[in-house]
Amino acid sequence: MALAFLRSDVVNLAAYQPHPGTPDEVAAVTLDPLDTNECPYDLPTPLKEKLAWAVQHTIAANRYPDGGHADLKASIAAYVAEAAPGIAAQHLSVGNGSDELIRSLLIATCVGGEGAVLVANPTFSMYAILARTLGIPVVTVGRDEESFAVDLEAAQQAIDQPAGPPIRLVFMVHPNSPTGNALTKAELAWLRQLPQDILVVVDEAYFEFSQHTTVSDVLQRPNWVVLRTFSKAFRLAAFRVGYAVAHPALTEALEKVRLPYNLPSITQTAAALALAHRQELLSIIPEIQAQRDWLSTALSTQTLLQPWPSTANFIYARPSLPQRSMGEELADWFHQLKAQGTLIRHAGGGLRITIGSPAENQRTLRHIAQV
Ligand SMILES: *Cc1c(COP(=O)(O)O)cnc(C)c1O
Repeated sequence: MALAFLRSDVVNLAAYQPHPGTPDEVAAVTLDPLDTNECPYDLPTPLKEKLAWAVQHTIAANRYPDGGHADLKASIAAYVAEAAPGIAAQHLSVGNGSDELIRSLLIATCVGGEGAVLVANPTFSMYAILARTLGIPVVTVGRDEESFAVDLEAAQQAIDQPAGPPIRLVFMVHPNSPTGNALTKAELAWLRQLPQDILVVVDEAYFEFSQHTTVSDVLQRPNWVVLRTFSKAFRLAAFRVGYAVAHPALTEALEKVRLPYNLPSITQTAAALALAHRQELLSIIPEIQAQRDWLSTALSTQTLLQPWPSTANFIYARPSLPQRSMGEELADWFHQLKAQGTLIRHAGGGLRITIGSPAENQRTLRHIAQV
């Protein structure tokens, strides 16, 4: 039904596609959920019990949560400072998933015709989706077909000669999703020379898998922000926690534009608990990296799909065919894999396969062989 009071650009928006498998299908283990890059393992039972204990004994349901996230910020600061001494709570803003922080960054910089954002496709789709919900123009540039390096010439031109409002935000994922490549020296050098009126967002959602980080840039550059999340390596996708690391003047702006009680008490407790037990939670990372390399090698010895090198917990692959952009073929393979029980993501002209448990990865390989 057409609703006359809606903004015309909202009517025409395409929504983010969550899991195409229903929760029932996934719960019944008819589908291996390898489409959203989560960790294949739930929180260990003792940690779940601690969380349940907190719900029963320390969280007052009738009280608002800590709107300043003081305890959680202190824990995050200690964790981030391991790689970047000098990072403290004042450099942090915490969000209901890093998705919320992406939206806060857009609100703080571009809303009201003040700016546009730049993204290099294929990349994480939420930047453009959230920008469009706020009426913010999205300028896209391409990537090299082989290395997926950003077309820096086109990016510089988009900045020098804007067709609309000036570029105020540049979003980069490090390593990129869906393609798995980390930012190169040349890309980092280009980002670092951008003028002070452009904010560089480096999304390090996969940091714990890749160990690539630019977080110490934050201490030298007020126009640099690093985003991280608890949804991947820390196994807390269900709880929704992300954080931004930035100059205190920028985190202050992010705090202004967010909702006052954006993070439920249980979510804050869960994230602090995960950090306190990080050694145990992150100890499965070598297994995931080894499984990724095993699956990647196995894929390159069959002839259907060409995998790209990845430093994250997923593999991007395209058909090993003369012309690679075979959209219909890819959609067909995606559906064949789903019918066999392996749910992956069809994105950016290829297939993105999350690394699951060893049993799931064995099934992935077997199902691909049967396509
Ligand atoms: C998974 C992911 C996120 C995480 O989003 P949350 O809202 O924290 O769950 C952010 N950025 C990228 C690139 C991702 O892949």
